[in-house]
Amino acid sequence: MPAAGAGRRFGERTPKQYAPLRGRTVIEWALAPFLADSRCAGAVVALAGQDLWWPKISERISTVSVAPGGAERSESVRNALAGLNRRAKQTDWVLVHDAARPCLPTADLDRLIERAGAHPVGGILAQAVADTLKRQQSGTDEAACIDQTVSREGLWRAATPQMFHYSALTEALDKAIAGKRYPTDEAQALEWQGEHPLLVEGSTANIKVTTPDDLVLAEAILAAREGKKK
Ligand code: C5P
Repeated sequence: MPAAGAGRRFGERTPKQYAPLRGRTVIEWALAPFLADSRCAGAVVALAGQDLWWPKISERISTVSVAPGGAERSESVRNALAGLNRRAKQTDWVLVHDAARPCLPTADLDRLIERAGAHPVGGILAQAVADTLKRQQSGTDEAACIDQTVSREGLWRAATPQMFHYSALTEALDKAIAGKRYPTDEAQALEWQGEHPLLVEGSTANIKVTTPDDLVLAEAILAAREGKKK
């Protein structure tokens, strides 16, 4: 779990992964489905050097190991994989999940493990794009104007978890980083190796907390889920 981002768009002093959310923190909600799943043999979080928040959380969840974060997300993930190297076999599956995604439904995790696990490369949770997409004219950052509509056909929003074989992901990230190319998700590193990971349709409830507004949404999603259980 990469958790070393500063969350600049969140704009608070506490990074978004440590924001309070229904009696826990965002990262605790993000970890929960994996810690509760007997198929997951271990978890590693990659933390920023100046992280002040994890020690308190680790008192509550002592089973999670830590690795140093990197300047880029892909480097944080690579370091977390290194933290697994004594435990993971080359062919083991690893799941990478954003610390900022606290609302992953267990049904989505089950579907990903089942479908990506039956694919030779692995796969990712994603959502087919539902909105009409616009590309802005270049040089219109201040007051953006439309250049053109981009077809949404065949376009997906990549989410996490993303699931790949330990050795394939490690090697793909090593090659990317050695070439000073930093993929924005794990699948991209595999794509650069010529692979075509599986897209597994996931729920739009699996939001990434980016702005304070997203926290309100996350709160509502978790509350609705708890209400359904009662
Ligand atoms: O910034 P973004 O929302 O894309 O970050 C996705 C995840 O990657 C977050 O959990 C964040 O903490 C993590 N990250 C990281 N190391 C970085 C940048 C982001 O672990 N250098």
